[in-house]
Amino acid sequence: MTAISVDGQRVAANVLAEVAARVEARVEAGLPRPHLAAVLVGDDPASETYVRHKRRDAERVGITSSDHRLPATATTAEVVELVHFLNRSPEVSGILVQQPLPRQVDVEAVVAAVDPTKDVDGFHPLNAGRLLLGQPGLVACTPAGIIRMLDAYGVPIEGRRAVVVGRSNIVGKPVSLLLLRRNATVTVCHSKTMGLPEVCREADILVAAVGHLGLVKPDWVKPGAAVIDVGVNRRDDGRLGGDVDPAVAEVAGWLSPVPGGVGPVTRAMLMANTCRAEEARRPG
Ligand code: NDP
Repeated sequence: MTAISVDGQRVAANVLAEVAARVEARVEAGLPRPHLAAVLVGDDPASETYVRHKRRDAERVGITSSDHRLPATATTAEVVELVHFLNRSPEVSGILVQQPLPRQVDVEAVVAAVDPTKDVDGFHPLNAGRLLLGQPGLVACTPAGIIRMLDAYGVPIEGRRAVVVGRSNIVGKPVSLLLLRRNATVTVCHSKTMGLPEVCREADILVAAVGHLGLVKPDWVKPGAAVIDVGVNRRDDGRLGGDVDPAVAEVAGWLSPVPGGVGPVTRAMLMANTCRAEEARRPG
């Protein structure tokens, strides 16, 4: 068997096309364009690249954007003050706080300072809690993107066994809750899980969000399973690789590549969240 490649670029293009249509419909109705404000602290080169990509995505769908920079020496209070300013700015629909933040900045305090209605990253405790309770709210982009990828390829979720490797607040836990919401039977694994290969082998849907190059081997995968590889790791030769050994393609039914899988869909979901946040604040 050779797995169907879950093409993140294609899924992302569809998400962005939908967002662009929703934005244009609002503009035609005389409503303002959604606006994404990015907070950047310091000059981490990877963050600069991410924010540049996000700006390009925003332009592509008609969302306006702005960057708000603070020096690497900024304190928690200064970052929180900037976030409060953006909370109060009527033209701002969504606020993205680019991580990592410098060590002296209390990330939790900054995330909690974001107005939950502008929390397009979906990291605010209120939105995380709403997800847990099954209430509507802004959902983190990577987990929402993973569900979108499964749906785009018609992977059945309801009643299926899903195994999520990784329990972070930004990927593992929220994607587990989304799969549960869709009536999968979900197992969450982590670094202390015993017999990880056997647990993974039970999965109809396997999500790897670990940060360990090539951890998931072909004999960990049930034939025909859908495998979503979230990991982004640097290989020895400098290229990017996922948490899943590419040889898994010989066993799986579907496999998302790295790069070109979850990454582009995550970015597209940020635009969808920004549009949604604006629609919720100023319904047409
Ligand atoms: P974290 O480091 O926050 O979490 C990693 C998780 O993996 C933890 O729960 C950890 O367990 C678990 N883990 C570590 N080693 C093992 C192991 N050997 N066996 C089983 N579980 C293990 O990472 P993130 O969730 O933030 O990110 C995971 C990966 O996804 C990274 O490579 C990251 O770069 C990538 N990523 C990609 C995104 C994209 O858009 N493509 C977006 C976000 C992340 P424990 O809790 O016990 O420590």
